[in-house]
Amino acid sequence: MRKKLIVANWKMKFTVGESSLFLNKLQEKVVANRNVEVVICPNVLTLQSLSLQIDRRKFKLGAQNCYYKDEGAFTGEVSASMLRGIANYIIIGHSERRHIFCETDKLITQKVQAVLRSGLKPILCVGETKNERIAGETAHTLHAQVTAGLANVTSEEIKDVVIAYEPVWAIGTGDFAKSEDAMTAAKYIRRQVEGLFGKKAAEEIQILYGGSVDTDNAGSYLAAEDVDGLLVGGASLKADAFATIIGKANEIATA
Ligand code: PEP
Repeated sequence: MRKKLIVANWKMKFTVGESSLFLNKLQEKVVANRNVEVVICPNVLTLQSLSLQIDRRKFKLGAQNCYYKDEGAFTGEVSASMLRGIANYIIIGHSERRHIFCETDKLITQKVQAVLRSGLKPILCVGETKNERIAGETAHTLHAQVTAGLANVTSEEIKDVVIAYEPVWAIGTGDFAKSEDAMTAAKYIRRQVEGLFGKKAAEEIQILYGGSVDTDNAGSYLAAEDVDGLLVGGASLKADAFATIIGKANEIATA
């Protein structure tokens, strides 16, 4: 059985001090469950201090981004290999990286490679824009982004990859996808993974939904077939709301 995976993307929010206080609050509210993994992705500056504070029975850490080279003259960048030992996961290809920082599929391919080379797990984000959805191009966009993101991934490495379906129009807007649509997208992605890597890989890969997840809608995604967890932005910045979402995952995983 696939574990449920709940990922908090704190984006560029919370200072080092605020992160520490927030984590303390969250740790008090969350109960460890071996069928649910919870990953906190703070800003890169905060990763190290949280790594000393985090209760590893309850949480793992992830980075929000990395560069694709291991080291060198790349001012302002942090490599996946530098994050080894601190983070377990790295979010790659988030729509804000694709759209605000103009990351291309080619760069995302290289970043996925760098994360795997460093022994960490990439959370590859894919999803259509509003215009693509209106034009009926959702499947085409998902296919292209999954193909690019997984190019060069080996059949050994695929077990370490997580894919997050995040429709761009749903991120930070309050306009969340219907759970049936999230399920359809997750099924589509799983079928594509099966075509590329075979049945076992497709059965094992965790596919998340992200986009305006809150305490009211989280349960419907978590109960949907093929959706193995959530990537949560705004609601992960509120301790009560995020603890409630984790609680729902715990309930569903142990039901
Ligand atoms: C995200 O940051 O990936 C995200 C899904 O944000 P939100 O939950 O705020 O829509």
